[in-house]
Amino acid sequence: MRSSWPLRHRLLAVLLGVCAAGLTVFAVSGVWLLERSLLSRVDTQLTEFAATVSRRPLSPPPPSGRGALELPTQFRVAFYSSSGSLKGEVPTASPGAPVIPARLVSAPPVAPVTVPGRDGSGEWRALIVETGSGGNRMVVSMSLESNAATVHQMLVIELIAGGLVLVLLAVVALAVVRLGLRPLTRMERTAVAIADGDIDRRVGDTDPRTETGRLGGALNIMLERLAHALRERENSERRLRHFVADASHELRTPLTSIRGFAELYHHGQNRGDPVAERLLRRIQGEAERMGVLVEDMLLLARMDQEPAVEATTVDLHVLAGDVVHAAKARDRERPIRLVVSDEPVFVLGDEHRLHQVIANLVGNALKHTASGTEIRVQVGRRMVAGVPAPGVMHSGRGSASHARAALIEVSDEGQGIDPEHLPQVFDRFYRADAGRSRDSGGTGLGLAIAAALVQAHHGRIEVTSTPGRGTTFRVLLPLHQPQDD
Ligand code: ADP
Repeated sequence: MRSSWPLRHRLLAVLLGVCAAGLTVFAVSGVWLLERSLLSRVDTQLTEFAATVSRRPLSPPPPSGRGALELPTQFRVAFYSSSGSLKGEVPTASPGAPVIPARLVSAPPVAPVTVPGRDGSGEWRALIVETGSGGNRMVVSMSLESNAATVHQMLVIELIAGGLVLVLLAVVALAVVRLGLRPLTRMERTAVAIADGDIDRRVGDTDPRTETGRLGGALNIMLERLAHALRERENSERRLRHFVADASHELRTPLTSIRGFAELYHHGQNRGDPVAERLLRRIQGEAERMGVLVEDMLLLARMDQEPAVEATTVDLHVLAGDVVHAAKARDRERPIRLVVSDEPVFVLGDEHRLHQVIANLVGNALKHTASGTEIRVQVGRRMVAGVPAPGVMHSGRGSASHARAALIEVSDEGQGIDPEHLPQVFDRFYRADAGRSRDSGGTGLGLAIAAALVQAHHGRIEVTSTPGRGTTFRVLLPLHQPQDD
C-alpha cells in the first residue's frame, strides 16, 4: 500500500515524521529539565528557610496565637512530635497545607521530599528537620502548584510552537519537493509525447550539477541513439523499397527484349537465316546483361543482410596489378598506368571482393571515358583523419584521430561527373547519363557494390570530379601489418 504513494508524499511523510520525533524528544527533555530546575530551586529555598528558622529556634505558637512568626506566604511551618503527631502550625494567610506521613516524621530523610496536599491542594515539597529539643520535628514546606503551572505552560507553548513548526515545515517541504521533482514531471510529459510519435522531442533539463539533470542528459543520449536507429531502419526500408522497384524496372527491359526476340525467332521461317542469327545473338546479349544484373543484385542483397567479409591478408599491389592487366587485355588501345608505392600495402579482407572493387572502378573509367583517355591506378599509403570510418564521401570529413590507411586511387581524364550527380553516384541504379550508361552495358549497381564492399571492409570511398577534366575515385582501407613482416 505504501509503495503506491507518490514519491513526494513519501518524502514529505518521512520528513515530517522525523521532525515530529525530534520535536517530541526536544519538548520532553525541555520539560524534564525545567521541572528538575524548578524543584531544585524550591529545595534550595526550603533548605535556606529552614536554616534561617533554625538559627532562631521556634517552638509551637501559643494557642492564643500571639507572638506568632511572620512567614513569607509561600512557606508553611508545622511542628510534629517524634511519633508523627501534629503539635502545631504557624498560621498563614493563604490556604492549603501538606499531608506529612508519620513514617517520614519519625525517620526524617535528609533531602526535601514531595508529598500530597491536604484537601486536594496539589503537591507539596517538604523538608523535615529535627529541632533538637525533645526529638520534636519541624516541617518546612512549600506548594509545588506554581511549578506545575509553569511546566504546564511550557508544555502548551511547546505543543503550539511544535505544531506551527510542523505545519510550516510541511508547506515549505511540499514546495521544495514539488520544485525538485518538477523536472521528473517534465520528463514524464516528454516520454508521453515521444510515445505519441514525436520522436524528436528531448528532455530540457540536462544540468549535470543536478541528479535530474544528469538523468535528463542520459535520457537524451539514449533517445538520440534510439531515434538514430529508427531513422536508419526507415532509411534502410526506404532503400530496400526503391531497390525492389528499380530492380523490377531494370529487369523488365531485358526480359521484354528477350521475349520479343524469342517470338520473332519462333515465327521465323528459316532457322539458318542471318537475321535470325542476329536476333539470337541479341537474346544472348540481353540474357547475359540480365545475368550480370541478377548477380549484382544478389551480391548487394547479401551485403545488406550480412555485411561481414572474409579476412585474409591481401596484397593490394598484386591485386591492382591483376586488375590493370585484365583491363589492358580488354581494351588494348587504352593507356592504363599503374603507380605503386615502394613499401608494400596490405589489408585484411576478402581478396575476391576487393578485386571486384578495383575492377568496378577501372571498368567504370573504361566505360565512361572516351577511348584513348588515360587511366591511372595508384596504390599506396596515406595519413588520413579517422580511418576506419566506414562510409561514402564526396568531400572531406573531419576527425580528431589520424591513422595511416591503405589507398587505392583510380583516376581518369574523362568528361567527369556533373556536381549535381556526384552525391548520388553511389546510389543503386543511379546513372549520371542513363541512356549512354545502359547502352554501354552498365547496370547502375557498380559503384553501389563498390561502396558496400568497402564499407564491409571498414573503409570508405570518396569521389572527386571536375567536369571536362576527369574523375578520381579514392578507396581508403585500414592498413594491415602481417605478422611475418
Ligand atoms: P554503371 O553500371 O552505370 O557504370 P555505376 O554505379 O558503376 O553504374 O556508376 C554510376 C554512374 O556514375 C555511371 O552511370 C556514370 O554516369 C557515373 N560514373 C561512374 N564512373 C565514372 C567515371 N569514371 N567517369 C564518368 N562518370 C562515371
